[in-house]
Amino acid sequence: MTMLADANLYIDGVIRPSANGNTFDVINPWTAKPCGKAADATEADVEEAIAAARRAFDETDWSVNHDLRYELVTKFVDEMFARKDELTLIARVEAGSAIGAASRAQIDGALNGGRDLLECFKKVTWEEDRGRKNDMGIESDRIVIHQPLGVVGAITPWNVPLYVNVGKVVAALLAGCTVILKPAPDTPRMGSIMGEIADKVGLPKGVFNVITSADPAMAGEMLTKDKRVDVISFTGSTVVGKRIMANGAESLKRIFLELGGKSVNIILEDAPDFQICCMMGMAVFHAGQGCAMPTRMLVPRSRYDEAIEALKISYGSFSQKWGEFDNPEHIMGPVISQKQYERVLEYIEIGKKEGAEVIAGGGPAKEKGDGYFIQPTCFANVTNDMRIAREEIFGPVLVVIPFDDDEDAIRIANDNDYALGGAVMSADKERATKIARRINAGAVSVNGGMSITGDLPFGGFKGSGMGREWGVEGIEEFLDTKAIAFKAE
Ligand code: NAD
Repeated sequence: MTMLADANLYIDGVIRPSANGNTFDVINPWTAKPCGKAADATEADVEEAIAAARRAFDETDWSVNHDLRYELVTKFVDEMFARKDELTLIARVEAGSAIGAASRAQIDGALNGGRDLLECFKKVTWEEDRGRKNDMGIESDRIVIHQPLGVVGAITPWNVPLYVNVGKVVAALLAGCTVILKPAPDTPRMGSIMGEIADKVGLPKGVFNVITSADPAMAGEMLTKDKRVDVISFTGSTVVGKRIMANGAESLKRIFLELGGKSVNIILEDAPDFQICCMMGMAVFHAGQGCAMPTRMLVPRSRYDEAIEALKISYGSFSQKWGEFDNPEHIMGPVISQKQYERVLEYIEIGKKEGAEVIAGGGPAKEKGDGYFIQPTCFANVTNDMRIAREEIFGPVLVVIPFDDDEDAIRIANDNDYALGGAVMSADKERATKIARRINAGAVSVNGGMSITGDLPFGGFKGSGMGREWGVEGIEEFLDTKAIAFKAE
């Protein structure tokens, strides 16, 4: 089985092992066996990374030299494109991505998103002339400038590691911040390769640092509590997001949170090719491990049986079309880890106990191999008060809920603690748009439109977090605003 290169730390411009030389095994989700080693950072390593990022922000011209940043970050993104095959292999081996999913969201989305951010950089308003004003007898000429916030701690998850790393790191660097990236312990290599790329393209030392660690919390807690870190940009679970807010309160840190989701796919009764719309709505891409994936399908009560029959057919034919490491057609592999495997299976059991009907899957898929394979699973007869309808499962599990009319669909859609993504399908664009406008979510697709892409803002409302990544807004997240007034001469 494929082994990956060692994941090293990258601190103050040096690629190196941890201070005490300790490493941890990276586990391949396809086999449940080690596929590489990663440096296990010590507290001293984290301390050094924070100090290096602080120095690079305070003592170099990184924060004010727009041309240098644009030139070097362009090289950084270009070098990622040049190493696309290697990045794809890492996504497959380390994050358990099937090839069909790796080439799309995992890698192409991340790399194209990096290019989009470079274009967005040109649209950022760095300075505005606010004109002359006489206030309290003082005549002043005023400008407003937007300047980088400082040192960013970027804490990222394992599901689409390159995509999330790029969304935070490229945007923060373009804004003029310096960055410490802390990838999830499951996907350290996707972080460490970004350190190698930074080194190759000559990012000034300390501007970008990478910390890998077996302990999921140690480095993140240090970053969150340290006064020298100005911003935490976090993607992951709601429970850790809340802890980060609490830990960051002491230093009044700027906190951006991209948390979970339980997004809806509302298929109206007039949707063209109604049955195909339903069939396309299986939650199987990357084994359902996408935060904005529509895992709650809402279908009209009048066509509910038809929807369920269509889903039985699509899940039935999909059952032989997933789970092969080398098959380019496959978009679904294992879930990431033993922990996630147990968690998803537990949710499937909860759904059964709650009285929902399993119409596809419903358990482990041992026949696919020794890795963390779970059958693509679909529940019918689900009500929106069931835990499987309310909580994020983060696995290949779809729930199908009936609604009575448009108002009922909107009510059900918004009756959830999460509010990240959503989709509406209808022959009537105006009707679908009315619904899209009222769904609580940061990104909504109408009739299959692509609402998640590198030049559009992405993020959630309510329990799905705060702040926006990607797009001009994603760079502006890392800027603060200053007014300067010149006494008129
Ligand atoms: P997590 O929230 O525990 O981990 C995400 C990141 O936070 C990792 O880098 C982790 O090391 C770090 N972290 C953990 N504890 C921390 C702390 N106390 N302080 C600072 N950083 C800390 O997520 P997980 O365990 O990998 O997955 C659990 C659930 O999170 C999933 O089942 C899923 O529901 C959700 N999730 C959501 C997304 C998303 O994109 N929204 C991504 C991954 C996971």
